[in-house]
This record gives sequence, C-alpha cells and structure tokens, in this order.
Amino acid sequence: MGLNLVMLGPPGAGKGTQAVRLARMWRIPHVSTGAILREAIRNQTALGLEVKAILDSGALVDDALMTRVVRERLERPDVDAGFLLDGYPRTVPQAAALDGIIAGRGTLVIVEIVLSDAEVLRRLASRMICSECGVNSQDEGQVQSCLNCGGQLVPRTDDAESVVRNRLEVYHRQTAPLVEYYGSRATFRQVNGDQMVDEVTDALVRAIGA
Ligand code: AMP
Repeated sequence: MGLNLVMLGPPGAGKGTQAVRLARMWRIPHVSTGAILREAIRNQTALGLEVKAILDSGALVDDALMTRVVRERLERPDVDAGFLLDGYPRTVPQAAALDGIIAGRGTLVIVEIVLSDAEVLRRLASRMICSECGVNSQDEGQVQSCLNCGGQLVPRTDDAESVVRNRLEVYHRQTAPLVEYYGSRATFRQVNGDQMVDEVTDALVRAIGA
C-alpha cells in the first residue's frame, strides 16, 4: 500500500512548494484542490464559474462540492500507489468525508506545517504564481519568469492583503480544528514551517518517515 499523505497548515506555510518536492520524491500524485479550482477558473468551466467569486473573497467552497472534486480525483488509477493532498481537507466535515473515501486504502499520514500569523502575512505579501501553469515560484527567489514553463509571474488574486486576512480568519475558524480532529492519531505529525525551504523539506521527510 502506498503513502496517503495530507498536508495541513495556514496559507503561505509552504504546503504547495513542499508538496511538489515530496510528491516528486515519492512518485505520488500531488493533488492540490486550490490548483484544480484555479485551473477550472482559467478554463472557464462550469466548476470554475461557480467558484470564482468564492476564491476571490478568500472564503471556502462548500464541503459537498469539494468532496465531489476530491472523490473523483481519488478514483483515478494513478493514485492507487498513494497521493499527496494539499488544500483538502479544510474543514472537519471534509476530513470525515476523506476518511470515508479512502476507507480500506491504507493509512493516512497527516502532517501540519506550523507558521505564525505574522509570518503568514509577511510571506503572502510577496508571493507570485505563474499566469500560465499556476505553479508557485516563491521558493526560487527573485526570478522573472516561471521556472516550470517560462510563463509570466503574477500575484495570486487572493493574496491581496484584505483577502489574506480573511483567509487567515477562515483558517483559524474552519481549518485549525482539524488539528484536534487528527491530533490523537499515531500518524499525525507537525513540523516548524519557519525555516529555510530545504530545512522544512528535511523536517517533513523525517517526520513522515516513508
Ligand atoms: P489554496 O490554493 O489551497 O490556498 O486554495 C485557494 C482557495 O481555493 C481557497 O481560499 C478556497 O477558496 C478554495 N479551496 C481550496 N481547497 C478548498 C477546500 N478543500 N475547501 C474549500 N475551499 C477550498
């Protein structure tokens, strides 16, 4: 049975950056619900049109819709050997739904990247993503264009300061309770996100121990 991994942590904690690295290392699909939604918005699909205003406000998309998106993704054969979920679950009902979706598919490892609000606000003020492929190039320093596809880097529309404050508030109210939901499990781990990117990666590898 493969590695079924969930990454928790506030916006800007480095979940996306670290998820790309870990997924590559362990050859498991990186499933980012934020990236799935942003791609749907770029492509103006029915899903994209439905969620655009919600993402722009920093609020959460409703649980039933997100669970449908994740269930469909986790039914694809490429996740048979494991997956890395980034951005889901974000509420206790989503976590309960995930337990149902993956019942009988091996253990779930949950790792939280811990970061203070002050550091979150500082980091998100300068975050850039690619307008073409959606990859976050933050950890690569002062680059002019996307290292993945060469596309133009732009700020994320939901990284404007007022929206970030709302996302942080939403995080504390709706997502932080997941630490309690998962906290008593033997497979729950925490790492300090306030370190250099490579150090966080090392800490994650040690904590997950796969
Ligand atoms: P992220 O890229 O993970 O920061 O997600 C960006 C935005 O997508 C969030 O602020 C939410 O509006 C939406 N979103 C992503 N994942 C979820 C989820 N599991 N539940 C609800 N909304 C989500």
